[in-house]
Amino acid sequence: MSNQTHQLEASLKIKFLIIGGGISGLACAYTLSASGHEAVIVEECRIEEKTEGSIRSPPNMTRILTRWPGMDAFLDTHATRCTGLSFRRGDTGAPVGAMKFHDEIMDELEAEFLVVQHEDLRRQLYLLCLDAGVVFIHGKAENIAKEEDGVSVTLKDGRNLHGDLIVGADGHNSFTRPFVMSESAEVEHVVSAANISIPTEIFEKDDEFRSLCRPNQFTIWMGSGSSLTGTFDPQCKTFNLSICSPTPLDSADSDMYDNYDLSALQPFDLSGYDPRLQRLIKSGGSCRPTVHKVFKQDDVVGFDGSLVLVGDAAHSILINGSHNSSMAIEDAVTLGTLFSHLSDRKQIPVFTETYEELRQSRTDETRISEYQSLVQISLPHGELQQLRDDSLLLTLDAAFDDFENCESSDLLVQAWEQYLVVFSYDASEAVDNWWSKWSFTVE
Ligand SMILES: Cc1cc2nc3c(=O)[nH]c(=O)nc-3n(C[C@H](O)[C@H](O)[C@H](O)COP(=O)(O)OP(=O)(O)OC[C@H]3O[C@@H](n4cnc5c(N)ncnc54)[C@H](O)[C@@H]3O)c2cc1C
Repeated sequence: MSNQTHQLEASLKIKFLIIGGGISGLACAYTLSASGHEAVIVEECRIEEKTEGSIRSPPNMTRILTRWPGMDAFLDTHATRCTGLSFRRGDTGAPVGAMKFHDEIMDELEAEFLVVQHEDLRRQLYLLCLDAGVVFIHGKAENIAKEEDGVSVTLKDGRNLHGDLIVGADGHNSFTRPFVMSESAEVEHVVSAANISIPTEIFEKDDEFRSLCRPNQFTIWMGSGSSLTGTFDPQCKTFNLSICSPTPLDSADSDMYDNYDLSALQPFDLSGYDPRLQRLIKSGGSCRPTVHKVFKQDDVVGFDGSLVLVGDAAHSILINGSHNSSMAIEDAVTLGTLFSHLSDRKQIPVFTETYEELRQSRTDETRISEYQSLVQISLPHGELQQLRDDSLLLTLDAAFDDFENCESSDLLVQAWEQYLVVFSYDASEAVDNWWSKWSFTVE
């Protein structure tokens, strides 16, 4: 695996206007600045604003982050290292299955599966951008246009910004997406979810809560029609629990900055969950509901190659899943690494097209597998749920803990093979491979 920490600097430097300063916008601004370009972020909210909720950083994301200045130390102090997945029944809390993140495998992957508070990661990326010279503009982008000599972004207050390329990083309710994707980008599913923030200190006082899960395990309580997930870390101030339903409910869609009171959870049927979990949820201070349209992957490049979508604006990987932020970080690395080779304006559409080509199949597969996983862990009580639990139960057998001595037909080995494909992907290596094969066509 590549250990690259610094990208090349492009010999031709251009100006990127990035709409949105979430994880994807910040990560793009950093990688593009590191490649020598000018990056301007337009963000309508205050980046330093306190938010609640946590982000999963699977190995394919952690590996990238640790190559960026100061990130290793930041993750050491701010992230929770997950020791594995724990599958539990939603109605009783009883363990049904487990998947340990074996040291041998994680060593090979050269990166951990981490959980980090959204606001902490965002602040750290913001500091990284400031150090790299990224310019921040506070305002709401309302229109974008392709012009003869570049692109422009118009803000709500009338300001007009001019640049060479626009990066649409404006999240799941993106206004830049319709400039690229046809109106008909087919919505496959609608997922209702909510994040509930619970003060960790209440675990200290309550044995029943402590009996619900083991510290540092990524725990999945599989309910009937929905599921709950969370990683309890006694060192963290808050325990973030997410509830997700793979089918639409009549729930609210927050803009991610607003906290709602717990009555916003009403559309989620919690009555079938273990009473300890119900009590735990009730002790949460607030929640943040989202409605997420899972759409079929479509084009992510428009304006003849001068508008590129990244992160949730580009693809509909489940929010509160394992890969929403990892795909955003991979998008950023792909874009930044490609543009580190820029030496002629003619290459711009080639690089944006290559970005689309490299990202499309990866995000498409991830979207499908993330949604399928949600369906699996939320199966309504019945025959399929019983079959799922029976096969998961095999992983609780002591023999399954011994990964090295498993038969290759074992469920655990098969599951690991799937995870490894996703976890071992290296976005900058993918660009390096492309460049070594095709650079002669654009140089
Ligand atoms: C405040 C916040 C908290 C979150 N918390 C969690 C969490 O706890 N767990 C989780 O799994 N995911 C969370 N997410 C979502 C997660 O960050 C994303 O799914 C993923 O990281 C991809 O990020 P993104 O940058 O593409 O989109 P987002 O994170 O949604 O960022 C988009 C940004 O664009 C800005 N924006 C949108 N429209 C405009 C406009 N017209 N002009 C200017 N700016 C605009 C938004 O204010 C936002 O900051 C959160 C997102 C936000 C914004």
